[in-house]
Amino acid sequence: MHRRKFIKQSIILGGGLLALPVFSSAKTNSKFKGTTIIIGAGAAGLYAGKRLQESNHSVQILEASAGIGGRLKKLEGFMDYPIDLGAQWIHGQHALTKKLAEDKGITPVKEEFKFRHVWYKEKMKPRVPLRFSEFYLSLHMGKSKKFPDISLKDYAMQEGHESTLNLVEAIASETGTSANRLSAHYYVKELKNWDSGNKDYYLENTYFDLINEYWAKPLKPHIQLNTVVTRIDYSQSKIKVFDKNGKSYEADKVIIAVPITILQKGMIEFHPKLPTLQTEAFNKIKMDAGIKLYLKFKQRFFEGSIMGTSKVPYYIDIDKNKTHKDQVLISLIMGEQAEYISSIGELQATEEILEELTTLFGPVVRENFNGAYFQNWTNEPFIQGAYSYQGIGVGDARTIASRPVNQQLFFAGEAFNLNGNYQTVHGAAETGLEAVQAILSQK
Ligand SMILES: Cc1cc2nc3c(=O)[nH]c(=O)nc-3n(C[C@H](O)[C@H](O)[C@H](O)COP(=O)(O)OP(=O)(O)OC[C@H]3O[C@@H](n4cnc5c(N)ncnc54)[C@H](O)[C@@H]3O)c2cc1C
Repeated sequence: MHRRKFIKQSIILGGGLLALPVFSSAKTNSKFKGTTIIIGAGAAGLYAGKRLQESNHSVQILEASAGIGGRLKKLEGFMDYPIDLGAQWIHGQHALTKKLAEDKGITPVKEEFKFRHVWYKEKMKPRVPLRFSEFYLSLHMGKSKKFPDISLKDYAMQEGHESTLNLVEAIASETGTSANRLSAHYYVKELKNWDSGNKDYYLENTYFDLINEYWAKPLKPHIQLNTVVTRIDYSQSKIKVFDKNGKSYEADKVIIAVPITILQKGMIEFHPKLPTLQTEAFNKIKMDAGIKLYLKFKQRFFEGSIMGTSKVPYYIDIDKNKTHKDQVLISLIMGEQAEYISSIGELQATEEILEELTTLFGPVVRENFNGAYFQNWTNEPFIQGAYSYQGIGVGDARTIASRPVNQQLFFAGEAFNLNGNYQTVHGAAETGLEAVQAILSQK
């Protein structure tokens, strides 16, 4: 299975899943003695910083926002336990973050995403219909079949799956977009690269805590917050990085670990300009609007996750519901649905969502409703979206976009992952490691 695993576990599987190799990190042979600036203190930037620090190299991290973590963010006080507003699950038993947790004596707990309430043909079913399972498996097992570079929605219709389009929408949503924007061809192509394993885990504390404790804290003296980088001048061998207040910083190498949206919007100016091929490649990698929604209830009216709804494509019933008082349904709302929810506002969105759930489950929904929390990632000024996905015509954009420039500038972050592990924390970290390896192998 692939990077987001929510639906997979509810699919009727004919056999074993793909055998997935472990991500291996090549040993670095450090010849480099210079200085490095990292822009962005998300998973990619922090892991790059950690690896440079471990090899006794000089590193400085410039972070635009007031805190570390980027798309890892923690909220206390809404539930009776701290929650992750961004990344929450370790996707894959081979993920380097699973190893990190285990090395620190933390045991990641296996999560099951069982969809027990599936809205299909105007009725609630206890599982996904066989027809949808077949479609899902045809994509995920790939076979030798050729998938056209058309939207997943058009492809599903072409294959006669009109009746399950609401469920197809859930596939697209777990992939960060809507079914009419995801390329059937490139989605399937990238699934084959996923090498992190097919199990999912949650942490007793948050994912944010894991990264903060073991990557960010040791780097604290080297991280400068509230520093918005606006310009990089790499016309000389010493690179000059400028922040929005005009202050400059100097280094031999720069790792740019900001979301792809920041580069697409030209929020960092490069001198000389980056190669046109590279900036074109940035623009081909798509990243849509994204909202993580927590709906809190006093008591459960659901026994398992929910799929096929129209306001949001699915809700996840998490294992922590079994051990905590507050009951929660989590939804990852992406693409067009996220845009719609942003346009109507949280109050109206909550009303529409509760209305739909009431139609499916009855008055018990409103009787037990105890609050909603929307984390709208599109509104975060230095993120501006959810995560990258395979849009129509993406081609080899990730490969071109991730090329170092002049052996001075190195790009990192989930969107630059070429191991098929984009859209994840560990995938972002892998790109940080690769940038460090490339730097350390230089003189
Ligand atoms: C709702 C949601 C749920 C997710 N769930 C999961 C999950 O369960 N499991 C999983 O593995 N992954 C999940 N992900 C994906 C995961 O969070 C990301 O892939 C990963 O955190 C990205 O890390 P990054 O370092 O590439 O980028 P980011 O975390 O975005 O870090 C980039 C940093 O750059 C900073 N920055 C931007 N511009 C500038 C500038 N001009 N100057 C200085 N700094 C700048 C930003 O402030 C930010 O801190 C989820 C993402 C979202 C949005």
